[in-house]
Amino acid sequence: MPFTVAIVGRPNVGKSTLFNRLVGKKLAIVDDTPGVTRDRREGTGRIGDLEFKVIDTAGLEEAFDDSLEARMREQTEHALDEADITLFMIDARAGITPLDSHFADWLRGRDNPVILLANKCEGSAADNGIYESYGLGLGEPFPFSAEHGVGMNNVYDAIQPAYDKWMEENAALIEEEKLLAQVQTRTIINEEGEEIEEIDTSKSPLQIAIVGRPNVGKSTLINHFLGTERLLTGPEAGITRDSIALDFEVDGRKIKLIDTAGMRRRTKVNEKVETLSAADSRRAIRFAQVVCLVLDSSLMLEKQDLTIAKETIDEGRALIIVCNKWDAVKDRKEQLQKLADRMETSMPQVRGIPIVTLSAKTGRGTDKLFPAIFQLYENWNIRVPTGKLNRWLEQMTEAHPPPLAQGRRLRLRYMTQAKTRPPTFVIFANKPGDLPGSYLRYIANGIREDFGIDGVPIRVMMRKGE
Ligand code: GDP
Ligand code: GDP
Repeated sequence: MPFTVAIVGRPNVGKSTLFNRLVGKKLAIVDDTPGVTRDRREGTGRIGDLEFKVIDTAGLEEAFDDSLEARMREQTEHALDEADITLFMIDARAGITPLDSHFADWLRGRDNPVILLANKCEGSAADNGIYESYGLGLGEPFPFSAEHGVGMNNVYDAIQPAYDKWMEENAALIEEEKLLAQVQTRTIINEEGEEIEEIDTSKSPLQIAIVGRPNVGKSTLINHFLGTERLLTGPEAGITRDSIALDFEVDGRKIKLIDTAGMRRRTKVNEKVETLSAADSRRAIRFAQVVCLVLDSSLMLEKQDLTIAKETIDEGRALIIVCNKWDAVKDRKEQLQKLADRMETSMPQVRGIPIVTLSAKTGRGTDKLFPAIFQLYENWNIRVPTGKLNRWLEQMTEAHPPPLAQGRRLRLRYMTQAKTRPPTFVIFANKPGDLPGSYLRYIANGIREDFGIDGVPIRVMMRKGE
């Protein structure tokens, strides 16, 4: 996905030297795919404010002296397929060799954008080579010295126009990646040396998706909130036609509303509408932390709704059920009972999923939605301290000991919360594989009840540990 730069050229022109300079010292993630790409080097390159992926095609040629050209071509071809821009390097001190010319001819026959870099230009010995290189037919050369770091501004100038153009063309994709990164957690090491995953929830906006079948009132609901809450302005605000997210603030908290309609506008027109809406909600769920599943209160929880609910839980996101058009419901008690029954039979694995009844049209009940979302989000981010968990585990196993397996008592030794978003717990046991599912459910339900983690998926995993 990132903007990708390939460095190509005959051996010894200085490709590796430039690669190392761009990538810095912690260079060279060696691609370990067997075969042709084995020794291709890749890394994250930086120059000024530009950040991109660099592929170095150096070091591939030597092993195949007899078919040097074929070998170069094969490797280069792979790099070019991936690259958004190709830096073709020459050694200006050595001048243009037949191999350079040959390479240039071949490059011109392809439709990759090529920039000509003249390396080793730290002194006047390069002047003649620079002059000769115009003859390659690849435009004006950008002179620099990879080894001495002279003229790196020229390399910047060579890359920047293509980079800017690419960033503009891929703005929507870049935005999507940012959204996804928000949902995914990063791993950090805590004071006790444990690896845990965290995200700074105070700074990043809460990402909410509003999903549901057509006509349940999603747009009406979104418009209601956009009409009553303060919209954020400035470059970060995504209120543009193509944006897939709307930014606003509720009670001083930043909200990013994933806009499926925005996604739809960007999807290809020739796709079928039905498949589109299913795909839309699936994508919105992936980008969201809290998913609001909107129902039409006269048709509580149809099959399609359940599919969306299940996808949300499977993805580990927090789910909230919004019963819209509550104004039009006659027997409210009966409808709520129907919903509760369907949830109990179809989604027993997550207890306490919040239900908010409201009317997007009249605005009645809409003030309950965000407090419910904030509470749910907190549950999704909850972290139970290890000491507390283990005292709890002891009580649980005492109250109801694990069963025997082949005559031997199963022992649950230790428990820790490995992750938040959703809360994920790991239990170390002597024979983890023998613990019945019913016992795991006993533990999971106990955690939910005793620590008050309602409405979000809870995961419990077993590991071996004496
Ligand atoms: P590659 O085979 O294209 O990857 O080339 P290398 O990066 O291995 O460089 C080949 C040789 O050229 C090495 O001895 C480098 O030290 C030298 N070299 C690289 N850049 C420069 C430069 O800017 N000026 C001079 N004079 N030598 C350079
Ligand atoms: P979407 O397809 O889910 O975005 O649904 P819309 O927001 O376009 O709404 C579909 C229809 O339901 C429209 O005619 C709305 O006026 C109507 N509608 C939306 N919310 C309510 C509500 O709270 N009560 C009633 N009675 N009708 C509503």
